[in-house]
Amino acid sequence: MKNTIEYQIAEEKAGFRPRRGTIEQIFSLRLIGHDRSFLLADIGDIIERYQRWEHYLPRVKPYYAVKCNTEYPVLKILADLGVNFDCASQAEIMFILNMGVHPSRIVFANTIKPITSIRYAAEHGVELMTFDNEEELHKIKAVYPTSKLLLRIKPEGTLKVKVDLSKKFGCFSSESRDLLIAAKTFQLDVVGVSFHVGSGCEDPTVYCETIRVAREIFKTGIELGFKMNLLDIGGGFPGTDSDDVNFEETSSVINKALDTYFSDIMVNIIAEPGRYFVTSAFTLATCIIGKRTVKLHPKNKDGNIDRHTDIPLVEHIMYYVNEGVFQTFMYFVLLHAASDLTPFPLKDTESDALFESTLWGPSGANIDCILEEVLLPDMHCGDWIGFPNMGAYTSTLSTEFDGMMKPIVSFFCRENVWRSLHSNSAENK
Ligand code: PLP
Repeated sequence: MKNTIEYQIAEEKAGFRPRRGTIEQIFSLRLIGHDRSFLLADIGDIIERYQRWEHYLPRVKPYYAVKCNTEYPVLKILADLGVNFDCASQAEIMFILNMGVHPSRIVFANTIKPITSIRYAAEHGVELMTFDNEEELHKIKAVYPTSKLLLRIKPEGTLKVKVDLSKKFGCFSSESRDLLIAAKTFQLDVVGVSFHVGSGCEDPTVYCETIRVAREIFKTGIELGFKMNLLDIGGGFPGTDSDDVNFEETSSVINKALDTYFSDIMVNIIAEPGRYFVTSAFTLATCIIGKRTVKLHPKNKDGNIDRHTDIPLVEHIMYYVNEGVFQTFMYFVLLHAASDLTPFPLKDTESDALFESTLWGPSGANIDCILEEVLLPDMHCGDWIGFPNMGAYTSTLSTEFDGMMKPIVSFFCRENVWRSLHSNSAENK
């Protein structure tokens, strides 16, 4: 429990105090007197997920992927809990360093880095970075020859992931020997191997296969004279328990693979979880700003629209909310992941009857459609709709298209988690 106490103390020092209470209480307070969308973030959820990580993956040091959610309190809590950081850019590194995090706690996990950013990393002591091609080695040799390098490989086996990163990043294992030889020729310091199975991995066996291949590359690296001592197993960890695979299952596959392939060698293991830490902590509340009831041609049994004039039209409700695909919902459209969205009314409705509806965003764009053919109760302008599990790749992808604003974020902590933090710190005084 030491970490949670440190968190509380650091949080009080920083003057950051989340509201306390249940999500229902906080919602009812926040819904009054305005119609601007907001995200409610439960700090307790992040702390509990960290504790779960420590329990199930004690050998693996997490480096939180900053790209996923950059809200200051999220980064601060994670930093205070002892989590390190995966930064994809100079701006992310600056942000994390400005929080007072030591540069040794950062991995610059982008295999394609502008030379100016590599120089920035050199000037600020961020030593650890990834590469997957020879051109990158030329840049690194030129401005940061003493950096510590991780060779990023593509994941092995069949991928079942929400976001496949393997086309853009990573070398094939068959290319790894030549890249290690190139690094040796440049007198660069390769310290290990990294990979990313893809974000939202639904079949954890890919970790096992890739860890096996990583071990072979360690062997090659050691033969070539590198002191290989770091394995980075990337991201891919589930953000909610309702995802097709749960965290415990993923951890168990990883632990077994580490025992099988890495028990004969002293290595530090790190990972780059993003969505794992933040997805379930955030709930979006968005306000209905418009409603139209329209009549549409019905669909036939094949799901196609039936335009025969003798078939009666069906009623369909169009709700317009003040948050759209150019803001918090961007990710779900980019990845065709609308099925991950589970809207629910934030207040009890008069009747339990559900109606086929479409949810539109607020902008003038036709593509600003959040969900089609979703069953919702009859609601009205000024009513609020909630969306759970909105912490990952939501606020970081929001734009200001059509003059729309990013949602406000309010932080709260469930009373029981808050009390446990306080009682722990009192016990330790
Ligand atoms: N590390 C890198 C290099 C990434 O590109 C990403 C996501 O794209 C992450 C970590 C975070 O992974 P996840 O979304 O699976 O948590």
